Amino acid sequence: MRTDSITASMLYDFVRCPHRVTMDLFGNPAERDPISPFVQLLWERGHAFEEDVIKGLEVPFLNLRTVPERERERRTMEAIAAGESLIYGGRIRADDLLGEPDLLRKESNGYVAGDIKSGAGLEGVSEDSDGKPKQHYAVQLALYTDILERKGVSRGHVPFVWDIHGQEVAYHLDTARGPRKPTSMWEDYESSLDKVRAIASGESRTLPALAGECKLCHWRTACLRRLEESNDLTLIPDLGRSRRDNLLAHIGSVRGLAGADLSELIKGSKTVIPGVGTDMLRRFQVRAQLQTKPDGKPYLLMDVKLPHQKLELFFDIETDPMREICYLYGFLERRGGDIATEKYVPFFAKEPSQEAEKDAFAKAWGYIREMKSTTIYFYTKYERTILRELTRCHPDVATEDDIEELFVSEAAVDLYYDIVKPKMEWPTRDLSIKTLASFLGFKWRDTDPSGASSVEWYHKWVETGDPEIKRRIMDYNEDDCRAMRILADAIRGMVPQAWPIQ
Ligand code: SF4
Repeated sequence: MRTDSITASMLYDFVRCPHRVTMDLFGNPAERDPISPFVQLLWERGHAFEEDVIKGLEVPFLNLRTVPERERERRTMEAIAAGESLIYGGRIRADDLLGEPDLLRKESNGYVAGDIKSGAGLEGVSEDSDGKPKQHYAVQLALYTDILERKGVSRGHVPFVWDIHGQEVAYHLDTARGPRKPTSMWEDYESSLDKVRAIASGESRTLPALAGECKLCHWRTACLRRLEESNDLTLIPDLGRSRRDNLLAHIGSVRGLAGADLSELIKGSKTVIPGVGTDMLRRFQVRAQLQTKPDGKPYLLMDVKLPHQKLELFFDIETDPMREICYLYGFLERRGGDIATEKYVPFFAKEPSQEAEKDAFAKAWGYIREMKSTTIYFYTKYERTILRELTRCHPDVATEDDIEELFVSEAAVDLYYDIVKPKMEWPTRDLSIKTLASFLGFKWRDTDPSGASSVEWYHKWVETGDPEIKRRIMDYNEDDCRAMRILADAIRGMVPQAWPIQ
């Protein structure tokens, strides 16, 4: 499907994955996977949020959302010419650019565009940081601004987002993105636009790359098949698209890297590959060798001693990012290393409210405090981050210092950041707990276990109160906890090997 128009969603997709633009334009529709229920849920929530915002607007506005698409462009330009103060659901076009901003607002001497987003307007907001603009929002807003400018009706380069928190977040497109990123959002937009145009015209070719985005993408099966056929370098954990692209001039596949003579690529203390240092290159080669061995096994790079406490807790939480609620705190409790008597202890918020979240948090925190001489295991910093955020909403349950004290103690083990990432090698394509525990032979009871699925089930449970759905969520969480226990026990049984392996 060739196109004559560059749209905001193409730019959004390009920022996430350039190959998605290629596939949506030229991919075989028969190879598309069904839209995942989680993505469907995100769309529905986005639409519902937009409707609520518009219903609650207390200022007059012109609604063009219901106008047939073929008339909407003309009606939008007529409304702009008439000086409408706020236009909802307009459609604007200039040259090859086509945009459908949620809002067009008249200011002193022109229009600015805005989008209604059911997410936070900025990313990385914390006590220590005001957050920064989201690149995928910025390119969309810049496209609308570009069109308004070409039409001669723009108020300038400061479009906005109305976000989930009811805030208006201004996007200052001309300011530098930071000390490490001296380019402005506008310059990044122009560069993205050129690249999307080149893809759309067939002038530029892209390659798939295995990344987090693939999990929810409707081209996942088709791309994975192609990656496997070409034995693509992004099948190596952490290697990623940009390093793969830089490596391709020298090495084209996992097998190629496994057998490569690295001395040809290392000059002095550096490699000839931008963005890849010598240690990193050696480590990627080890991973490639592990993957290409028929019986590749995970191993430790150094001695690792996990604490031997009488009581161990394997801790995992479930959150709903759309409702911004932590609804389940799950613990697998094991005493004396005995699997036969281990038990799952869940604390489930009985409804999606702040009060219920606080109640479950208080019970979970009380449980952790009661457990003396305990080793607490978790995977990644997610649990720590969420508990820290919870102390801001519910400071009478626990303080941030309480949480820090728990997580910095020697009894707290982050299996990913403390051990798997720095001290191990695995013959797998990623280092997620699902992948590693599955490699070790563990099977989740659910046929579709994932964090995204769990959020979708939770939404269904909130709507229906169905106890079977609640059971499914708890079983999934329990299995996640058990997967950590499987991993911890496997690590205990491993002996370090010299690195790099031969
Ligand atoms: S599956 Fe991955 S590589 Fe393929 S288009 Fe989607 S995000 Fe891009």
